[in-house]
Amino acid sequence: MPPERSEALVLTTRDYGEAHCLVVFLTPGAGLIRAVAQHARKSRRRFMNCLEPFSQVEFIYTLKPDQELARLDSGELLQPFRGLRRSLLPLATAAILAETAGELVGAVDNLAVLYQTLRNALAQLAAGPWPWSIFLSHLSRLVAQAGFNPRWQTCGLCRRPQDALVWFSPSRGGIVCPGCLPRLRGEHVYPLHPGSRKLILAAQQLPLETMTRLRFPELARRETTAAFRAFLGQIIGRELRSWGFLEKILPWCDSRDST
Ligand SMILES: [Zn+2]
Repeated sequence: MPPERSEALVLTTRDYGEAHCLVVFLTPGAGLIRAVAQHARKSRRRFMNCLEPFSQVEFIYTLKPDQELARLDSGELLQPFRGLRRSLLPLATAAILAETAGELVGAVDNLAVLYQTLRNALAQLAAGPWPWSIFLSHLSRLVAQAGFNPRWQTCGLCRRPQDALVWFSPSRGGIVCPGCLPRLRGEHVYPLHPGSRKLILAAQQLPLETMTRLRFPELARRETTAAFRAFLGQIIGRELRSWGFLEKILPWCDSRDST
């Protein structure tokens, strides 16, 4: 097969065998590609600076018939998004968004839109500040683009609109009112105050330039993050690996990062 040339976002890179790297990247046209960069650890020249996770690059790669892994022929760095590495929170939230995009790519109709959402998220997180509003806005957009937009306003069982404290049910893919809660029979559910739901709806709808003006107070941040974490676990069938990293670094995040 002839080589393909595409812009891409690097999701993960890890050692593969003695000298190679296994690179997983997202492209706007072909979706998720897993490719082996041969001898990348010994000769860095062909892949100069372009295997770093969360970089925007241009790759030339060759798909091989009947083989899961493509061959990465060469790459060029377009945008390193260096600002992601200024502190741990932008990096940890970028990792969750990248893993989410990679896991949901199979359910997405418009690959180019998913790609653009992840690219915008990485660019905005790298530019900083306000990582929480950027993270939660883009996370909800990625989930919606894969067709799993949760119901935030009406109870999934009685269908009545809700304006007080409700519960998020991962299995129902949305909120459940206190009256219907006993019908879930012990399923683990997550509290959501009206303010948290209002913020997540605003985060989904605001244009990119203004979404960073949203501030997620501690309670809204904790509630919406817990709901998305559980919901993604339900959709994907396992917990995303990158949530563990975020959990570990949270105690060390500075106060500006906490809204
Ligand atoms: Zn109800």
